[in-house]
Amino acid sequence: MIQLQIQQIQDKIKLAKERSAASANSVQVIAVTKQLSIEKTQTVIESGLLHLGENRPQSFLEKVEALDKKISWHFIGSLQTRKVRDVIDHINYLHSLDRMSLATEIQKRASQPVRCFIQVNVSGEESKHGLPMQEVQDFINAIKEMDRIVPVGFMTMAPLNASPEAIRIQFKTLRELRDDLIAEKVVGESFTELSMGMSDDYEIAVEEGATYVRIGTALVGSLKE
Ligand SMILES: *Cc1c(COP(=O)(O)O)cnc(C)c1O
Repeated sequence: MIQLQIQQIQDKIKLAKERSAASANSVQVIAVTKQLSIEKTQTVIESGLLHLGENRPQSFLEKVEALDKKISWHFIGSLQTRKVRDVIDHINYLHSLDRMSLATEIQKRASQPVRCFIQVNVSGEESKHGLPMQEVQDFINAIKEMDRIVPVGFMTMAPLNASPEAIRIQFKTLRELRDDLIAEKVVGESFTELSMGMSDDYEIAVEEGATYVRIGTALVGSLKE
């Protein structure tokens, strides 16, 4: 079982919150089960983790079909436009809204509103998914009329091999962008969430105001076959 990992991560999150300069946000752990079989994912659910993250449409759909209906499913991978039709109505939170063509397709295919994180490429690194910082505001304005898209906040991934200091600056930059856009009324008060932090950097993310952390290896890595 993974009770020990769960406990350790919850403890570290609690301490990180106490150190945090950001307001006393609540932090939801998403267990990233993308590398686990259906059976092992079932073990995770039995450990009490009900927010699960997946990144491939095919195995996501298989798990939705096979597993408990009370799971909150977080789709965290980049989503190809042509896959939207198959998966969108099963997604509770999409973490990778990063382009207009994807928004348009969701608006067309979803039968109910979908909570979406706008994925931002804070570092400007070329190989990564996510909207460039300077395009975020126009994008938010462009999706305003889309009633199937409920923007709940921002998501980002720190670049591989970045130093802790560099990672911190990126998380902080995203929090400040959120706060600025709320202050300028570009987004509403409900645009509160920050999905940032993975196994190696979730403590930094929580210190900088993360409200969702997406943790795979450190949490469920021991279950991998
Ligand atoms: C795989 C993945 C994670 C989890 O990564 P770990 O380092 O295993 O915690 C988080 N977010 C996204 C988008 C991922 O693809």
